[in-house]
Amino acid sequence: MTITFLGGLGEIGRNCAAIEVENRIMLLDCGIMFPEADMLGVDLVLPDFTYLRENSDRIEGCILTHGHEDHTGGLSFLLRDCSFPLIGSPLTLGLARNRIEEAGLLDRTRMIPVEDGSRHTFGPFECEFIPVTHSVPNGFATAFHTPQGTILHTGDFKIDLNPVDGRRTDLATMGAIAKDEGIRLLLADSTNADQHGHSRSETTVGRVLRDVFAAHAGRRIITACFASHIHRVQQIADVAIEQGRVVATLGLSMKKNVRLARELGVLNIPDDKLRDINDVAGLPPGEVCVISTGSQGEPMSALSRMAANESKWLKLTPEDTVVLSSQPIPGNEMDVTKVIDALFRLGVDVVHSGLEDVHATGHAKAEELKTILSITQPQWFTPVHGEYHHLVSHARIAAGMGVDPDRINLCEDGDQLIISDKGVTKGGTVPARYLYVDGAGVGDIGHGVLRDRQVLAEEGVVIVYLTIDVHAREIAGGPEVISRGWIAASDPEELLTECAATVRDALAKTIADGGAMDIEALQKVVRRSAGRFVSDRTRRRPMIVPLVIEV
Ligand SMILES: [Zn+2]
Ligand SMILES: [Zn+2]
Repeated sequence: MTITFLGGLGEIGRNCAAIEVENRIMLLDCGIMFPEADMLGVDLVLPDFTYLRENSDRIEGCILTHGHEDHTGGLSFLLRDCSFPLIGSPLTLGLARNRIEEAGLLDRTRMIPVEDGSRHTFGPFECEFIPVTHSVPNGFATAFHTPQGTILHTGDFKIDLNPVDGRRTDLATMGAIAKDEGIRLLLADSTNADQHGHSRSETTVGRVLRDVFAAHAGRRIITACFASHIHRVQQIADVAIEQGRVVATLGLSMKKNVRLARELGVLNIPDDKLRDINDVAGLPPGEVCVISTGSQGEPMSALSRMAANESKWLKLTPEDTVVLSSQPIPGNEMDVTKVIDALFRLGVDVVHSGLEDVHATGHAKAEELKTILSITQPQWFTPVHGEYHHLVSHARIAAGMGVDPDRINLCEDGDQLIISDKGVTKGGTVPARYLYVDGAGVGDIGHGVLRDRQVLAEEGVVIVYLTIDVHAREIAGGPEVISRGWIAASDPEELLTECAATVRDALAKTIADGGAMDIEALQKVVRRSAGRFVSDRTRRRPMIVPLVIEV
């Protein structure tokens, strides 16, 4: 039996692992990652699918632990090349299906809903789905009962003893498995491993929201949170309705998810309290609560548009209060700050998690991780879901809880674990590079393209254009020098003319030396001479593009 990590170990996002028993593969999640600031122009990052494509006939299915995009968003790409059923809670499957439907892949994708606490067999895999609390409802930890013992994967989780829906992380079942058959290997969420203490219960956010709403009575309140955070939406709606407001959603994903969650009975908002956004404009401000997308400052989101005064739905005024019921995920801090700033400029009152406890994390902190380790008593341990430092922190916690350090395998993307009678050991590796999505292109841009974009963004470009008469051994036209983003000198014309002269001299010398009139070699001369001139004169290193054309 092996486990191959294809994403999520070394970054937050693109979670994907392949579990293999008797030559069959069960995927555990298939997510996307949002691009980092230096990934210019990249829309999304996917797990490296090379290994899965090469073994597509062996894929039995994909278990979706919960409905977040860092666990489900990659499916609409992988399912283009491979076909297999998806397994998850009804809500998880409902959240995952949007992107799959948009990609036109729904018809050939079977969905297998599974219930809390149920045990199912898929080919050689015997899986048990154990409820966990997280920032989206109905997530699972998964126990794989295998000939090599029981492997427990926590999924994204926290231990919320007072969850909004009363559905707690099922510690009793985990404990029973540990007692009965023992847990051979534990794979656990490391996102908050370097945060001390215990995460706050989601219901504490409801209490804070109640106070915030009361303090802003009479004003229109616009809240923003993750569209998949159904329990947050529930608490916002509850508080709003309790204080005499009606609720309207704003943003496509919020609208879709609210509809889905109400259909599935996961979200309860009475029909007469849920209004269309078009119907709330005329109501007194103190009777309206809008629940919007855009809590991460996403530039095209409903909230960003309102902050930029460009929303066709709502115009914000100093009579409005915006509550950001969220925490920026790493990388989004700047975007969120910009939105908050723009809101203040409109005179809007803003409440965010820095001012009031209007957000609680969905991931277990150190004390909760210790609780899981204490209950499950794993023989072997591998931290998952986190940047490298999160994984290391989690490994240290496990060692502190008595797991033999020799039995803690710290893995990264591409690593393979082998589980045999001898124990759990690291095997080989498989390709696990970042797979970039840019527009319609998947995987056709690599590090080279990103490096070029970085240079263009930071230094600009200088294009040197000239024509060569190879037979006459002379420059027929040019050189002309054109630049973008290189300099804003007082006299750029002069610099460009000088650059052209330098290139001309260098070329003339090369030609006079009597070498072969090879276009590629001449381009090198152009690049080198222009590059040296630009660097000497401006101390900058723009991209030099030599265009040498034969007449
Ligand atoms: Zn999650
Ligand atoms: Zn996650």
